[in-house]
Amino acid sequence: MALIFHSSIKRDDWWRAEIGKHIPDLEIRFYPEVGNPDDIEFALCFNMPQGELAKFKNLKAIFSLGAGVDHFFEDPTFPLHIPFARVVNDELTSRMSEYVTQHVLNHHRYQIEYDQQQKNRSWEVRHAPAAQNRKVGIMGLGELGQGAAKTLNLLGFDVAGWSRTSKDIDGVSCFHGSDQLDAFLARTEILVCLLPLTPETENILNSELFLKLPEGAAIINPGRGGHLVDEDLIKALDSGHLSGATLDVFHVEPLPEESPLWSHPKIRVTPHVASIAAPGQVAELAAKNIIRARNGDALINQVDLTRGY
Ligand code: NAP
Repeated sequence: MALIFHSSIKRDDWWRAEIGKHIPDLEIRFYPEVGNPDDIEFALCFNMPQGELAKFKNLKAIFSLGAGVDHFFEDPTFPLHIPFARVVNDELTSRMSEYVTQHVLNHHRYQIEYDQQQKNRSWEVRHAPAAQNRKVGIMGLGELGQGAAKTLNLLGFDVAGWSRTSKDIDGVSCFHGSDQLDAFLARTEILVCLLPLTPETENILNSELFLKLPEGAAIINPGRGGHLVDEDLIKALDSGHLSGATLDVFHVEPLPEESPLWSHPKIRVTPHVASIAAPGQVAELAAKNIIRARNGDALINQVDLTRGY
């Protein structure tokens, strides 16, 4: 019995050694060298070509190499009856909190505007309110959203969050469901999207939503490219309704050279780096989950297939 591994980053020997440290008897095959597909018991992968996972009739568990699992569900043949786990851990959460804090501070302290001013040698002072008077709103209060909210709280920001089900989190004004979305948006000056990409959240960052934010609001999207309607963002920035945006994720990655997002003066682009799972921890988690699956135990970080995230 074997594990099939697939990633766009080729480090086969490293993965073999790292997983082998924890489960020396596990045979690891690297896609597309599958061998007999009936030997495959586990899959550790990201962006596996569609239709491939369904070919492994003896799969016992699937492990994502990352936190987001939306691309698995794009595969119409994805085996929904197989236990499926994703990566979330303290380091992934704290790295995302770093990213969100860095860019909330950039917008809060007008760094995007100052970068433009520097190009023009323009000395124009802008007065940022104190953090406690700056309202930050986080869409998605899961592992990463809650972590970012806690870190922003430490800096004194007035933090709210929006989720699907109701929450009670110390220091965070909690909103939930579509009924409370407008109230959440109306009080949000810096909006951070940490939602999973699902049919309900696709294209959620659109013109209609932007108009519900106060004039001058900024957007930070480390969620997924599919959350954002790019043209609507550009319109909202050009009209002056939004003051700036920081984007880490895109519909097509790498972001195509011809994309207008690259050169827009009010947009900051980062290359999907907000929080990357440390490979050593991914290997260790996969090994722990393989042992659990072999013993018939529930997986760590098991994805709820009924919710789709
Ligand atoms: P998570 O733990 O699954 O949390 C998702 C949150 O979104 C939950 O609070 C959930 O509400 C809320 N939500 C889901 N559907 C909703 C809806 N229709 N309306 C309102 N709220 C909804 O996810 P996570 O681990 O925090 O990760 C969030 C996302 O970050 C990932 O899916 C991925 O796309 C992205 N990510 C990006 C990077 C990067 O480097 N850029 C790295 C890792 C992850 P409930 O709490 O009520 O369920």
